[in-house]
Amino acid sequence: MAFSVKIGDSEVVALRDGHHPLNWGWHFPEVGGEQEECLLNFGGFLVITGSTVTLVDTGWGPYAGPPGGLDRDCNLLEEMASVGIGPGDVDLVAMTHLHPDHIGWNLILEDRVRPRFTKARYLVPRADWEHYKALPEKHPNIVQQAMPLEDLGVLELIEDGHAVTSSLKAVAMPGHTPGHTGFLLDAGCFLLGDLAHHPHVLEETGWIQRFDWNPELAVESRERVFEQVERDGTLVGLGHFPYPSLGHVIKNEGRRQWKPL
Ligand SMILES: [Zn+2]
Repeated sequence: MAFSVKIGDSEVVALRDGHHPLNWGWHFPEVGGEQEECLLNFGGFLVITGSTVTLVDTGWGPYAGPPGGLDRDCNLLEEMASVGIGPGDVDLVAMTHLHPDHIGWNLILEDRVRPRFTKARYLVPRADWEHYKALPEKHPNIVQQAMPLEDLGVLELIEDGHAVTSSLKAVAMPGHTPGHTGFLLDAGCFLLGDLAHHPHVLEETGWIQRFDWNPELAVESRERVFEQVERDGTLVGLGHFPYPSLGHVIKNEGRRQWKPL
């Protein structure tokens, strides 16, 4: 059963969509391979408030996967089903950014292209939409799982401060992608997308991940947000961290560390 935690009137559920060993040299070319072995998780989160269900990021999905393959003992839909949520129950799909490992379950491609989450509006950061739409060589999974949202009439472009629900707000934290966005739940949980891929990066904010679009901006966003969540003691979700990918950023002997739930 998927891991869930109650926060105020809401429930936040951590969802897995596979994992594989973190390849340090590939993800952090300047840092290299002398780091401990660990798993890179892929997935997303559900935020359930009253009868409103928001799905934040949709994993690799059934059609794509990372280089080196994916180990999957469960998938995102099975994880959702384990807490009683089906694809038709999702009201909002909110994407932190448009990388392929965050959009994979968006659409069903068999027969005809259609939304998998049948009643949902799909929220995409405007700066990501404009960036990827204009890229001549888009990743095929972005072409398949994001670009059709517009013609299907389910796309809503969002910017910093957008109220996803009355208690969940979009917060721009650009750098990993132009529109990279976190989602802050009033009651005290901040879902941070790909602000970091491993707990070491909480301290080593200058470690540049292979896909950081603008490294300088990425470092700036990391420093600003990590300082904030450490000071405020906010529960955070970082979907690539070891499952359940929820925890606190703390200071221990002068160094920023991850304290998993
Ligand atoms: Zn990612």
